[in-house]
Amino acid sequence: MVLGFLRWALALCVVLSGSAGAQPAGVSATYPLTPLTADSPVQIDIGANIAYLLDDSRQLQLEQAMAEGQPWLPVARTAPNFGFTHNAYWFRLVLDNRTGKALPRILELPRPFLDDVRLFHLVEGRVVSRFALGDEQPFAQRAVRHPNFVMPLMLEPGRNLLVMRVASSGTVEAPLRLWEPAAFHEASGNEYLMAGAIFGMLVVMIVYNLFVYLSTRDINYLYYIFFVASYLVFWGTLNGYAFAYLWPEAIRWNSIAVPIGIAGACLSASLFADSFLKLKRHSLLAHRLMQTMAWVSLCLMMSALVVPYSWVIRVTSGFILVVSMAALSIGYWRWWQGARYARFYCLSWTALFVGVGVLTINKFGWLPSNFLVDNASQIGILLLVVLLSFTLADRINTDRSLRLHAQSVALAHAQKARTSQQALLTATADANRALEERVHERTNELNLTLDQLRLANEQLQRLSMTDSLTQIGNRAFFDHSLVTEHKRASRLKQPLALMLMDIDHFKAINDTYGHPAGDACLRALAHLMRQQVQRAGDLLARYGGEEFVVLLINSTLGDALELAEEFRADIAALEVPFEGRVLRFTASFGVASAVPDMLFTPSQLVGDADRALYEAKHSGRNCVRAAAPRLRKPAEPGVA
Ligand code: GH3
Ligand code: MG
Ligand code: MG
Repeated sequence: MVLGFLRWALALCVVLSGSAGAQPAGVSATYPLTPLTADSPVQIDIGANIAYLLDDSRQLQLEQAMAEGQPWLPVARTAPNFGFTHNAYWFRLVLDNRTGKALPRILELPRPFLDDVRLFHLVEGRVVSRFALGDEQPFAQRAVRHPNFVMPLMLEPGRNLLVMRVASSGTVEAPLRLWEPAAFHEASGNEYLMAGAIFGMLVVMIVYNLFVYLSTRDINYLYYIFFVASYLVFWGTLNGYAFAYLWPEAIRWNSIAVPIGIAGACLSASLFADSFLKLKRHSLLAHRLMQTMAWVSLCLMMSALVVPYSWVIRVTSGFILVVSMAALSIGYWRWWQGARYARFYCLSWTALFVGVGVLTINKFGWLPSNFLVDNASQIGILLLVVLLSFTLADRINTDRSLRLHAQSVALAHAQKARTSQQALLTATADANRALEERVHERTNELNLTLDQLRLANEQLQRLSMTDSLTQIGNRAFFDHSLVTEHKRASRLKQPLALMLMDIDHFKAINDTYGHPAGDACLRALAHLMRQQVQRAGDLLARYGGEEFVVLLINSTLGDALELAEEFRADIAALEVPFEGRVLRFTASFGVASAVPDMLFTPSQLVGDADRALYEAKHSGRNCVRAAAPRLRKPAEPGVA
């Protein structure tokens, strides 16, 4: 794309080499002569067939330039090219019309960027026509509306002298061409077609990539668009098309559009290379280099508005070379590093440099001119524009496939994670269920064990409270129950009666009939008494060897004595069958009763009954005795 810029820069190099092509010797007044006959070609390149006069004062008028003794010189090169210069130049040529009649011809100067061009047509020392052209004049003033400077002439038979003055703040060139009018219009048509095609293509690329940018928001597209637009400004201005069709009134702008276009291309190329090749991530040095170039380009763009054109155009033309070299070499370096998307980028820039190479070789005459070689610059530009656009699409493709790959990897990971999570959840739920079942099982086992333990305890308690021989409560059972009943009676203020009973001469039964006979008597007695002691709350227990005790709740001493007497009689009447014999025995009773309180303990009640029993034994046995009723002690003074 920068081929045009480079071509421009190449011209600069030629100029900087310092050869403007002057010869020391002067030339004669009739030199140079270009004969025109009926057989002359329809297009004649005047080329070096022209004399020039340097006007370093820029003040000379036609008369002064043509005065005797001015140092007119021949042109040594193929065409006059004085490079960047502040001097004005005068050119002179003689067209010798040998056809014998007036000849219409068109003189074309295909360098539309020249500031000031004046042409004088003289016949026999008389000015027959004059033209004032140059891009410092409004476009509408031109005799022929054409991007190039075009001067229609009517050549008189004989010698016609053409004198031209050129002054410009850019390069001064004068590759003049003389046309037969019909041939000129035909060639112009072809040029318009070519230029229109290139212009259309560049605009299409801008619009297309603008749409791509709007959908992708990839900043590289903006740089690319800026690049193509900059080139369009440069190319259009340099060829005169922009001045002719886009801004025919904007003389000031037209005069600075070329350096601004070049600087814009430098700026966008630097930014594009920096961003596209991802230099910030891969090489801070290259990134800083490109950033610096971008800043310099921006400064050059700004300076075009204030600094003289001749200075800006030189600097920008040199700078575009530096930027293109850097962009190409950094591109190859990134490709060599493994950035695959740099391939097409390098290809684009290489196409440009191949174009420059072809042009240079052709300039040196080592390559014959043909359509491809002559249009190498245009072809190079189009190739570059298309390839760069392709480069962008390629990188977007690469990036997208990388992104898709990363996405699918992430998706696979997420799926794996989800599966693992599901498995973990299932395992946890299973473990919880198993644990619950186990806890439930264990709880059931524990409850069962507790039940068994409770039953065993109850049984144990029952056993520990039961007398194994008679199956009634034992002494421990009685002592425990007595405390409880004593508390209750004390709370309810109810009388409590206790009856102690002892079998008379029991030893004798044992001694006479044997111990089992004694046991049988004990069992029979217990059975008998259990029949009698049925009232809820009343207690019966075996108190010791052949001693029994009965506790009667809410019973007075009278009630208890009455019951004791009944027992005594029943026992005396009891017959115990044992091994074919009938055993008989009697029993003695001691009875005590009281309304218990805190001062009257259970053991006192038992003690009273025991004493009464002792008394019954001593009274001859087989009788009932009552303990003397206890008198409540008065409360001791000082005791609350
Ligand atoms: P007393 O009329 O003075 O009460 O005379 P006793 O013989 O009944 O009194 P003693 O205390 O001298 O004798 C009690 C006897 O009771 C002694 C003991 O061998 C007997 N005895 C104690 N427990 C049992 C038992 O479980 N079975 C049998 N067969 N005899 C027992
Ligand atoms: Mg006894
Ligand atoms: Mg006894």
